[in-house]
Amino acid sequence: MIKTHILGYPRIGAQRELKFALERHWRGEIDELALEAVAADLRARHWADQRAAGLDFVSVGDFAFYDQVADHVLLFGCAPARFGFTGTETPLQQLFTLARGVATEAHDDCGCGHTSHGKPALEMTKWFDTNYHYLVPEFDAATRFALAPDRLLDQVAQARALGHAVKVTLVGPLSFLWLGKAKDGADRLALLESLLPLYCDLLARLKAAGAEWVQLDEPILGLDLPGDWSLAFERAYHLLHGAGVPLLLATYFSPLQENLSLACKLPVAGLHVDGVRAPEELRPVADWLPDHKVLSVGIVDGRNIWRADLDACLERLRPVLERRAGAVWLAPSCSLLHVPFTLAHDAALDAELRTWLAGAREKLNELRILQQALTHGEQAVAMDLAAARAALAARRASPRVSRPDVAAALAALPPDADRRASPFAQRQAVQRARFDLPAFPTTTIGSFPQTPAIRAARAAWRRGDLADAAYDTAMRAEIAHAVRVQEALGLDVLVHGEAERNDMVEYFGEQLDGFAFSANGWVQSYGSRCVKPPVLYGDVARPAPMTVAWTAYAQSLTARPMKGMLTGPVTILQWSFVRDDQPRALTCAQIALAIRTEVTDLERAGIGIVQIDEPALREGLPLRRASRDAYLDWAGRAFRIAASGVADATQIHTHMCYAEFNDILPAIAALDADVITIETSRSDMELLAGFGAFAYPNEIGPGVYDIHSPRVPATADMVRLLRKASAVVPADRLWVNPDCGLKTRAWPETEAALRNMVAAARLLRDEA
Ligand code: GLN
Ligand code: ZN
Repeated sequence: MIKTHILGYPRIGAQRELKFALERHWRGEIDELALEAVAADLRARHWADQRAAGLDFVSVGDFAFYDQVADHVLLFGCAPARFGFTGTETPLQQLFTLARGVATEAHDDCGCGHTSHGKPALEMTKWFDTNYHYLVPEFDAATRFALAPDRLLDQVAQARALGHAVKVTLVGPLSFLWLGKAKDGADRLALLESLLPLYCDLLARLKAAGAEWVQLDEPILGLDLPGDWSLAFERAYHLLHGAGVPLLLATYFSPLQENLSLACKLPVAGLHVDGVRAPEELRPVADWLPDHKVLSVGIVDGRNIWRADLDACLERLRPVLERRAGAVWLAPSCSLLHVPFTLAHDAALDAELRTWLAGAREKLNELRILQQALTHGEQAVAMDLAAARAALAARRASPRVSRPDVAAALAALPPDADRRASPFAQRQAVQRARFDLPAFPTTTIGSFPQTPAIRAARAAWRRGDLADAAYDTAMRAEIAHAVRVQEALGLDVLVHGEAERNDMVEYFGEQLDGFAFSANGWVQSYGSRCVKPPVLYGDVARPAPMTVAWTAYAQSLTARPMKGMLTGPVTILQWSFVRDDQPRALTCAQIALAIRTEVTDLERAGIGIVQIDEPALREGLPLRRASRDAYLDWAGRAFRIAASGVADATQIHTHMCYAEFNDILPAIAALDADVITIETSRSDMELLAGFGAFAYPNEIGPGVYDIHSPRVPATADMVRLLRKASAVVPADRLWVNPDCGLKTRAWPETEAALRNMVAAARLLRDEA
């Protein structure tokens, strides 16, 4: 009997019900009871979906009000002491305090320089290589655990009362500790001994509550684990096994490689592997996993939105079934948290495109079809298979997807298209002569405040209530205002301010061929925040210039250099759902070519400086070290293809933020941008030390103030940071700029901050 199950379901709701309920609760409009009622209703509906698709279990424990890792912090009673919980708070109060912090007195505004006001939330970071952010548990040597299982047990009871067979999903103990952060440098692994008895206790309670299986997620088995961590698995799982409930060890996102035999050997009742990310491991796992264990094959892609190629899935599954006498289950590769709920009726997508896609709900149905085909023969689901085949054939043959002109343009690129004509030193001399900028030149990262007026104008234009010409006039007025402000402040290299852009990827995706945008394809990013990634379905081409008119208009208003502003190919790729029918590298190269033509068009329009933002370069890095060089190779080449079509006198900037870059410095240097601006102020220039030690060869603008806070930085603070920067990077290569774009700020604080920043630059110039 082939069973089907999922590792987790999106919890935000088909209409983002959870988001809206959470935000109402935070505004004080609904109480905890009302919020709990919304949650219970969502769970019931989601389990009903799973049941309707014939899954053998419903998934319990994947629901979270904010984040599943934060739920584990409360489940195991290890909230950091700094929150000072007394036990009088409700669990939800505790959860939202961990997630959102407490602002006693706005630290940002008081200017005292202390960080002790209020309680900052737990840090947030990306869940492996996804765009989902989890709350990072804080551990120290004094961390103690105490089991608080009631909320989870209530959910099991809710599912049981609805008549469902229950599989509970939890983060496994090793991954939970790994994902945390040791505040005092304590050894997280040393906490395992005291944590394991609580897991055992919990497993026994779940069994008593009627859970048939417990899935323990250990995605860290797909990382390059230190030896003591992989060693700890055996001891840990021997103990957990003793609790007596069947355990499904779940791995995903990355090949198991050297951990494969370990994963097969662990004393658990079943193993889940990611057959989408690591199809080559299905065969060895099928051979090595003892027959008394269940093999759960992640066969439907849980990370992407394409309708599955069911024939290819069946072909992949058949040899596994032939090799195994033991049970095989079918599942998505990972939790469906990372895909939209459904795209089947999305109002913004055309009918043809919709048939190519599968959201979480459609993926449940794909599992059912595969299970039926393997159990009763393909004729049992002939119609379903035929429909899937027809959609796939249409997608493959579609002239919207494969465009010979795009392939030809890429093929026509000379091999050295990703090299500037001259080395940096030569370009630098030419550019210095051309722009004649002072020492410590000042600039900004691109966006200026997206004011309510700008957003209202765009909304009206999109609704059709504001004519194109009127919208154009309104945006030009914003650009003119931004230029006037920058001239008055005395900035050296100006930007147009990005008023006309909703989002740095969407703006370009909407103008490029090959992208589509859903109306409701939301994916949870963190807490109540969701993102709606573009759907990159076809060969990418640029039918017309995208930014030239706005930039040229801005340049016409000033004698100072106007910096053109583009989003780079890697970032556009990284923040979209991308094609599964060609390598990411090829898709990225197509985007790169489109951006390259935009860059050369800007140059032709008289724009002498162009910035190509790549904030997402670091986050695309593969989880396994061995695959990183290959990624950095094609990603770097894509950036350089975009950047290298210009003359020596045209200055190329790039910008990066949101990450630690020190482990990819050689790759960043290999981009060969004339100037890089980076986020550094929050690390007090520590990040820059890496650039200094590495002897980063080109010019650098280390951010001198954090744009995430409305606080106006003092000139003295920025002077201090710039002196610190001058100690590690030769002063004649330094630029002065904020950490990132200013779109989330308001004008008064923006002007005040930039005034101080320009003053700081002038002070340094005078010293020189
Ligand atoms: N140019 C963009 C801006 O200023 C860069 C944003 C980013 O780095 N995330 O908003
Ligand atoms: Zn940035």
